Order: sequence, then structure tokens, then C-alpha cells
Amino acid sequence: MSYVVAPPAVISIPVAGGGEFPVRRVICVGRNYEAHAREMGKDPTREPPFFFTKPADAIVPDGSAVPYPPETKNLHYEMELVVVIGKDGFEIAEASALDHVYGYAVGIDLTRRDLQFAARDLGRPWDWGKAFDNSAPISAIQPASKIGHPAKGRIWLSVNGAIKQDADIADLIWNVKEIVSICSRSIRLKAGDVVMTGTPAGVGPIVTGDKVEGGVDGVGTIAITIAPRQA
Ligand code: MN
Repeated sequence: MSYVVAPPAVISIPVAGGGEFPVRRVICVGRNYEAHAREMGKDPTREPPFFFTKPADAIVPDGSAVPYPPETKNLHYEMELVVVIGKDGFEIAEASALDHVYGYAVGIDLTRRDLQFAARDLGRPWDWGKAFDNSAPISAIQPASKIGHPAKGRIWLSVNGAIKQDADIADLIWNVKEIVSICSRSIRLKAGDVVMTGTPAGVGPIVTGDKVEGGVDGVGTIAITIAPRQA
């Protein structure tokens, strides 16, 4: 094959204990904790889940210095449990959904909230609020073969040491089995897909110099700092 420009590098996430998980794309679940739906001004009634995406190359590793992104004055953190898909599937039944899960990580769905809300209020796509460079810090992956399939555990996030989000993944409106099953009705999930499952209440702004740390008990932790805007 003679590519006319250099092909993009494979994006991967390290697996705890060795190896790299190659990423196909990042799928995110919107408003999946009741208290967060409320703080976004929405009715937390159990509506069908909805999805948006980020490109694979939005992923940055644990420990990254993330430059404050362009075109926003309201960058927000969103701490999330991350599910990674290890086996292809279409119209996956809930009963077999966990067979498609390779493992789990934790991540921060960085959001340009001002752009997201402007898009939302105009009925436009969310992409520019969500799918920007470095918008998906994700920790190392823990294989389900090692940690099982966590259904409960504290999910938390702090900014400069002050706790901002503190909830439990048991409070997910749509759990991992349901998310995998429902998502796979709309698209064929493939090995390499990464699913960010939604954030609990307590989202808020971060600025250059902030240290953001978070985790899910039984899965892992992540820490990033917000660096100056890139010239
Ligand atoms: Mn989110």
C-alpha cells in the first residue's frame, strides 16, 4: 500500500500487568446518574440512554499534563467508569453482554461546557464540546479476568485535593450490561471500542494549574494536571 500521507499511529491504552489495548473509538453515555441529570437541568426519568463519541486519539494516559483547550472559558471534569470491549458483537443480549467486556479503567470526560450547552440549546451536535484534543484521559486497564465485573464501588474526583464528585457506580441509571446491549443495537461493537459510562453529580470547572485526581474503588485511579493553553 502506498499511502499518500503517513497513516495515523495505533492509539492504545496500557493493560495493568502487561500488554496494550488497541483503541478503535470512544463511545460515551450521556446523563447516566440521576443527580447529574438533575444538575444539567434535565429530568432524570429513566429514558433510553443516549450516546456520543470521541476520537481514539483524544485519549491521553494517566499522569498527563493536559493543555487548557482552545475556544472555551468553561472546561469541566467528569469522572467516569470506563468499559473496554474485547469481542465483536451486534444486538448483544444483556445475558451475554459481559462476555464482550475485556476489562475496566477509569477516565475523565473533559468537556467544553460552554460549547456543549450552546450546541445543545441550538439543537446542534455536541462534538465540539466533547470531542476535542486530549479530551479523554484514561487510566491503565484492569482485565475482567483479574478484577471481575464491578457492579458497585465508590467513584470520586478531587480538584487540588478537594472532593468534588463522590458517588457509587451502583447508582448508574443504565448498568454495564444494559449499556453494552443497547449500544450494540445501533452499531456493531468491536474489539477495541472504549465506553465511558457517564458521570455522577458534582461536575465543575477547572483551570490551568489544577490537579485533578479520581478513581473507582476496585478499578483504579487517574491524575492529570491542567497545563497552560498551547500556543
Ligand atoms: Mn460524560
